[in-house]
Order: sequence, then C-alpha cells, then structure tokens
Amino acid sequence: MDIQIAISSCLLGESVRFNGGHKHSHFCTDVLGQYFSFKPVCPEVGIGMGIPRPPIRLIASSAGPQAVGVEDPTQNFTAPLTEYARQKSAELAGISGYILMQKSPSCGYERVKLYRDNGYPADEAAMGIYAAEFARLNPLLPMEEAGRLNDAMLRENFITRVFAYADWQALQQTGLTKKTFLDFHVRYKYLMMAHHVATYQQLGQMVADLKSRPLADIAADYFVVFMQGLKHLATRKKHSNVLYHLQGYLKEKINARQKQELNQHIEQYRKGLTPLVVPLTLLKSHLHEYPDTSAYVLGQKYLDPHPYELGLRNAI
Ligand code: SF4
Repeated sequence: MDIQIAISSCLLGESVRFNGGHKHSHFCTDVLGQYFSFKPVCPEVGIGMGIPRPPIRLIASSAGPQAVGVEDPTQNFTAPLTEYARQKSAELAGISGYILMQKSPSCGYERVKLYRDNGYPADEAAMGIYAAEFARLNPLLPMEEAGRLNDAMLRENFITRVFAYADWQALQQTGLTKKTFLDFHVRYKYLMMAHHVATYQQLGQMVADLKSRPLADIAADYFVVFMQGLKHLATRKKHSNVLYHLQGYLKEKINARQKQELNQHIEQYRKGLTPLVVPLTLLKSHLHEYPDTSAYVLGQKYLDPHPYELGLRNAI
C-alpha cells in the first residue's frame, strides 16, 4: 500500500524558510520515509513570498488571527494562505496524514505564538493560518507537528491513526459492502478498546443495525467516531486491559506456568518496568502456536497496527 503523507517542505531539508534555511527532520526522512511517500508543501513559497523573504507572525484581530509582516504589519498574507490551503486540500485528496512544522505562523498546528497589534504577546495561542484551514477542511485527517513526534506516545498515536486512515481509504476504493465494513470494524475492535473503551462500545452499537439507513451514511458517521476515538492516547492501563482480554483466548491452551509468565510480563509492563513490545511478543508467540483457535485474535490490528520495524512499541 502506497501511503501518501503531506509534509512541510522545510522538514525534508528543502531550503524554503524565510531565511533560506531548512528544518530537516531525520526521523521523517530516514525512518518514516521508508514507509510513506511524502508530498512536500511550503505554503509561503506556494503563495509567491519568495526565498529569502521578510518573516511573518500572527496577530490577534476580531476577524481571527492574521498572518502579517513582522516589519511591515500592513502586509497581510492571511487570505492567500487560506486560499492556498483550499487549493492544496483539493490536490492532496489521497493523503493519509500530514506532518507540519511547529511554531510556524503558516504551518504550525498547535500553540503558535500570537501577538497583539501593539506588538506584545497575547495570552492565548493559535494555529498557523494554512494549517488551520487545511484542518478545517479535513477534520478526520491525522495531522501532527514534527516536534511532537519526539514524544513516543504521540508518535505511536499519530502513526497508528495514519495506517488506520489509509486502511479506511483502501476500503473505500475496493468497495464498501456490509461485509468489508464489518470486517474493518472487527479487526479494529481491540485497538479501539486500547484507545477509548467508550468509543469501542459506541462503534459496536453503530454497526448493530445496518438496515435502518444507507450503508454509506452509517459508514461515514462511523468513521467520524472511529477517528476521534483513536485520538485518545492508549495508556499502559488501557493496553494492559486489552492484553488480559486477549490472554483470555488462550486460557484453554497455555498451561499454568505459561499463564503466570504472561501475567507477570503484563504486570511489569503495566507498572512501567518494560515497554509494550515485551508482553505483546510473548502473547503473539502463544497465539501463533494455536492459529486455529486464535484466528480471530490474530486478525486484530491491535497486534500490528504499524510496521514492527518502526519499533514504536519499544518506546511506549
Ligand atoms: S514552516 Fe511551512 S511555510 Fe515555513 S518554511 Fe516550512 S513549509 Fe514553508
């Protein structure tokens, strides 16, 4: 599966910043680049601001944050950056995620500095103009800042959402039927349980009746709830709960010593002594011993929501 990810061009090492520099992220190019096709976008260059260019910043206004020149605040780039986001959103309809450069008045996705028109910092923060419009048009698309990908939990959460989003896109392409829809639901059950139990239960109710409305409508509503559910971080407590659930599928198969060993690994993980990969590896090894009785569990995305080689579960 070719998974396409949009990314702020400067993160790929392209010299597109206002000062002619870049913000190369080796994690993006060297690690994620092995799994994703990147679609670089520099909105400031895209609207013709040039390289180098005078820096801009966000100022608060009654019409919402405005991107204006630091030295010449009469130069306002808000409308072209917003329009450019609309254009790129249409062009990049097939992407499965977006990695953005933090702190940028154009690309920043989280707390970008906001100033008052007297030049003093405002108490609140804002999103970059381009990022805010792109996110408004693509509310379910996984979007994250490169800086936040340094956090193991946020990184694992983002990559999980990207692969799930791509899986849903593939489902739409192959054709949505009751069977493909229910198969999708079933294979994400335990992953969702690890992220948010209430969403797991809500999704179960949503698929219980597929006759009352057109399938496409139910699926569209389902996917909104699904993507919002995956945004919840999967904590050690929630993962441990899922691991114990999955262990239940082995209760007739593994002996008392094996069960005690698995319990011990899950408890050590729950207490923060080992990473998730430790109990999970042992659990998977047992499940693979009994492929016939474990077929349902072996089909769960929870076991491998992203490539093992990314090592994301070695760090959470
Ligand atoms: S943060 Fe965005 S606008 Fe700024 S240089 Fe990078 S890609 Fe271009």
